[in-house]
Amino acid sequence: MATNQDDQFKKVISHAKEYGYVFQSSEIYDGLSAVYDYAQNGAELKKNIRDYWWRAMVQMHDNIVGIDAAIFMHPTTWKASGHVDAFNDPLIDNKDSKKRYRADVLIEDYCAKIEAKIEKEVKKAEKRFGDAFNKDEFISTNPRVVGYYEKIENILTRMGKSLEKEDLTDVKALIEELEIADPLTGSRNWTDVKQFNLMFGTKLGASAETAMDLYLRPETAQGIFVNFLNVQKTGRMKIPFGIAQTGKAFRNEIVARQFIFRMREFEQMEMQFFIKPGTQKEWFNHWKETRMKWHLSLGMGEDNYRFHDHEKLAHYADAATDIEFKFPFGFKELEGIHSRTDFDLKQHEEFSGKKLQYFDHEENASYTPYVLETSIGLDRMFLAVFSNALMEEELENNTTRTVLKLPAVLAPVKAAIFPLVKKDGLPEVAKQIVEDLKWDFNVFYDEKDAVGKRYRRQDANGTPFCITVDHDTLEDKTVTIRHRDTMEQKRVKIEDLKRIIKAEVDVKHWLQKM
Ligand code: ATP
Repeated sequence: MATNQDDQFKKVISHAKEYGYVFQSSEIYDGLSAVYDYAQNGAELKKNIRDYWWRAMVQMHDNIVGIDAAIFMHPTTWKASGHVDAFNDPLIDNKDSKKRYRADVLIEDYCAKIEAKIEKEVKKAEKRFGDAFNKDEFISTNPRVVGYYEKIENILTRMGKSLEKEDLTDVKALIEELEIADPLTGSRNWTDVKQFNLMFGTKLGASAETAMDLYLRPETAQGIFVNFLNVQKTGRMKIPFGIAQTGKAFRNEIVARQFIFRMREFEQMEMQFFIKPGTQKEWFNHWKETRMKWHLSLGMGEDNYRFHDHEKLAHYADAATDIEFKFPFGFKELEGIHSRTDFDLKQHEEFSGKKLQYFDHEENASYTPYVLETSIGLDRMFLAVFSNALMEEELENNTTRTVLKLPAVLAPVKAAIFPLVKKDGLPEVAKQIVEDLKWDFNVFYDEKDAVGKRYRRQDANGTPFCITVDHDTLEDKTVTIRHRDTMEQKRVKIEDLKRIIKAEVDVKHWLQKM
């Protein structure tokens, strides 16, 4: 990671702690690796993101319903889904540093470095050719760049094939041939590559003899598949229809070092869309487009997103893409969209012995539906929103301010209300405004320190509006409302506050942009 990216990421993590967004779990015991707690503001932001997703997916679609399945599931579920046999990551240890890595990630990072070289060449050429520069042509003809691309392609193809064949010896050989070193110490003294299952096991039952081995679910999707027929029948759902769910998932990640990007306990927001076999291409494109629109509706910058279509597909998929976001450490997967065919339902049919088919009245025939999945990590979305919002702004008077420009619809606190001074009846009026607004919005009262300081605190906290009650308020029932992003201040009537705030924080205002 380049140093300024590194610094920016460190700022994100410390700001998240300082302003009550994210704490390390069990911090007083020195924390637990890759486990985090959401604090007073973080819990609100997370709830608002979840709600923004739920409204877009469930409330706005008359053919999508939501469920809340249990974290524990019958253990055969994970046999059927393939997780017991195949939910593995290839791990490798460095014998000198004793650090553990994912072998595939070491190789992918190596390729990312080559990509960075390509970018450098492009920038250089851009400078040299000025307006006459044609990027596409340059990339496809410049011998050095073409060579770089070929190298990446060869490496990734070989890795993909070896992983597919479970040829872990070749994965290690590749690491050695590329002379990949431990990123922390530079040592090339590697162990062999081994497979490591990512599911957490636990036991159900009181006595050791009768206890049943269970897993904590590694994804929420299977809770939807096993309930497919129950929901379809009781909800009288007609294909195409979707089942959505949000909830915790658990993965014993080999390397989890990027704050809430990769956690061992995290939350997913998933939707499985059941369709007629043969229509999967068109639905894949539909959901790709719809999900990207959802992201863009939050106004976090079109350039910060890109699709990454998978060439190497999971055994259950016939098409897959990731929506990648530009995190402080570069473009990384934020959401996956997968065309899962009829793999899961067929597997559950086979393992349970129960029919999981849909009777299509129009066709007068039964079939196993195909499935399109959209799957986004809530914590990753939180990190995307939070890291993108945090900025240092130079102000006209040569000072700077730290501001968290969260999309107003997601901000934990919508408005902070201040009395200008702590006397003359101003606190009473301010508190009355809090009483009136709290039915509609999460609001906050603050009377400590000078108003300028209170503004700065709310800027750093991401609060879109500050409302100040002063002596004129007592005369004419108006207040000053200050906007976080523009810092513009306006005099408005108390009775108009609700309308003004609602116009900017209302879900409808944001989702309509989709
Ligand atoms: P990655 O390649 O980053 O490990 P994945 O492809 O295994 O992710 P999926 O199984 O497709 O991820 O899960 C869907 C979504 O769940 C991901 O896009 C991501 O947002 C989220 N997710 C997966 N693993 C984690 C994790 N360990 N911590 C936080 N979020 C996660």
